[in-house]
Amino acid sequence: MSAAILDGKKLAAQMRAEIAAGVAALKAEKGVTPGLAVILVGENPASVSYVTAKGKACREAGMLSREIRFPVDIPESRLIETIEALNADPAIHGILVQLPLPKGFSEKKVIDAIAPEKDVDGFTPVNVGKMLIGDDCFLPCTPHGIVKLIEVTGMDIQGKHAVVIGRSNIVGKPVAVLLSRKGRSANATVTLCHTGTPDLSVYTKTADIVVVAAGRPHTLTGDMLKPGAVVIDVGVNRVPDATKPKGYRLCGDADYESCAEVASAITPVPGGVGPMTITMLLWNTLESARRG
Ligand code: NAP
Repeated sequence: MSAAILDGKKLAAQMRAEIAAGVAALKAEKGVTPGLAVILVGENPASVSYVTAKGKACREAGMLSREIRFPVDIPESRLIETIEALNADPAIHGILVQLPLPKGFSEKKVIDAIAPEKDVDGFTPVNVGKMLIGDDCFLPCTPHGIVKLIEVTGMDIQGKHAVVIGRSNIVGKPVAVLLSRKGRSANATVTLCHTGTPDLSVYTKTADIVVVAAGRPHTLTGDMLKPGAVVIDVGVNRVPDATKPKGYRLCGDADYESCAEVASAITPVPGGVGPMTITMLLWNTLESARRG
């Protein structure tokens, strides 16, 4: 294997130390403690573990964490009222609704209820629109974390060919927007691939950067890469594994072994993009509290 491992845990720990220092300074200077409210509806095991991890990270950074859990049959109107109350709560600077919501909820309606100035996930139409036109806004956490991880490689993104596999609103599309923006850590030529792309390897073979966010193991293999490419594997897939205590193991969308032989740097799963997503959430919450 030749690729360097892009250690998301290590970068996240460094950034979280900086964020914790920022939180302490804000408390000392202005008496303000950044507060994040996380709303969970239902008991989807993956969502429960994400919400728990977010609360823990928040407290470790010295922030206020408010977890609000609702049963799966809560009326949507009650959820929206809760969001509206949080919008008006001065102790709360960030509001996050854990997605996906159970069947029957309109994610669009629920996300729309979050005040854009507290939308630390960067999912409201106002923040998405601002990102698109290059206005100051909360950047979505996973895409922002991905850019930070590419920066760590020392590769100048400017002028490179970046291939993004996946066009979801929370990962693929915003990653493509961030990498193709004019400015620092951007200015790449971006190709956005999806299930309508007949042959991914036509594009990935000329890519300096490949971001794979398809939600399918083995979407990217080493023979699809140009030697020296940087691979960011966003996928989190549970693969049955009887040797593991939980009966499954996590794997990404890239075939790690074959990709690592060809790439210059690659993110592991777990321990790559995941820790950065939560870190950028803390970053946005601190920024929101600073803005007051
Ligand atoms: P999603 O909404 O299911 O979108 C997947 C995208 O990949 C779609 O655009 C789909 O194309 C495309 N796709 C699927 N199979 C493909 C294939 N064989 N070839 C080309 N394109 C393909 O998923 P998501 O929310 O973006 O998440 C993607 C993965 O990242 C999931 O495993 C998720 O768990 C993980 N994730 C991780 C983090 C983290 O913090 N680590 C955060 C978010 C998501 P179509 O549009 O044509 O259907």
